[in-house]
Amino acid sequence: MAFESLTDKLQDAFKGLRSKGTLTEDDVKAALKEVKMALLEADVNFKVVKQFVSSVQERAVGEEVLNGLNPAQMVVKIVNEEMTKLMGSETTELMLQDSKYITVIMMCGLQGAGKTTTAAKLAGKLKGKRKPLLVACDIYRPAAIDQLEVNAKKQEVDFFSMGTDVSSVKIAKSAMDYAKEHGHNVVILDTAGRLQIDEAMMKELRDIKDAVTVHHTLLVVDAMTGQEAVNVAEQFNEKVGINGIILSKMDGDSRGGAALSTKAVTGKPILFVGMGEKLSDLEQFYPDRMASRILG
Ligand code: GDP
Repeated sequence: MAFESLTDKLQDAFKGLRSKGTLTEDDVKAALKEVKMALLEADVNFKVVKQFVSSVQERAVGEEVLNGLNPAQMVVKIVNEEMTKLMGSETTELMLQDSKYITVIMMCGLQGAGKTTTAAKLAGKLKGKRKPLLVACDIYRPAAIDQLEVNAKKQEVDFFSMGTDVSSVKIAKSAMDYAKEHGHNVVILDTAGRLQIDEAMMKELRDIKDAVTVHHTLLVVDAMTGQEAVNVAEQFNEKVGINGIILSKMDGDSRGGAALSTKAVTGKPILFVGMGEKLSDLEQFYPDRMASRILG
């Protein structure tokens, strides 16, 4: 189960506080030291942890908290609030164009992150209110094209491919024409992933963006990879420009690092989380619910 170890450690830190009737500044600082260690062990970005703990400390050692009715509870509340803030405070909705127009969503990510699966999950989610078209722009892996086609069928949404002999830019452009002709108002481009970030991959994504108007560039990152997911997000944002992040594999035993640091490091919100392999396992991301879940 995700975050188990982080949740246990945070609860230990708070247990110490709760066992005391009144709190001193030193008590709070000692507990926050434990919180800091727990976050670092959960693979949260170092700078993010430092900033987070200092924000909590600033609020938690104030007169009002220490002399309040239930100081330990207040400290936990502050940690919860700051954690929510760290992950973006508000839920970020995926904004769609008016249904008269086509909203273009470009999915990107490293190979294996869950991009193709997530593209199909997203199409399924949007199917109720729009007419999505899933487009196979990965011209390097025929298996990825097949996988998208199979998933499109399962989701009962339309699928567009031109095989592997045409450039991804040409495919994206042709898909737009196809969508216009057939009345699709959401086009989801599934792009090629690589095992590692490379310049050619980034250029291909930029070329697609130059050729068609992409409204949302969504990056899928594997939550299980912790801080590496954050590094990946930083690089994609720098080199391609992303609007939002989808954290996949949050059903696994992720330690929490990616969920807690991606927004703070990249400035881009987490929109959805992948909660399993099934095509229905995509959930909206709620920072406040996630914070409460982490705190147990
Ligand atoms: P891509 O190479 O980025 O397109 O990755 P795929 O979509 O092919 O996914 C790689 C593997 O991760 C597949 O076995 C998926 O079923 C699995 N996967 C994707 N998303 C999730 C998720 O949210 N949870 C779990 N447990 N597995 C996932």
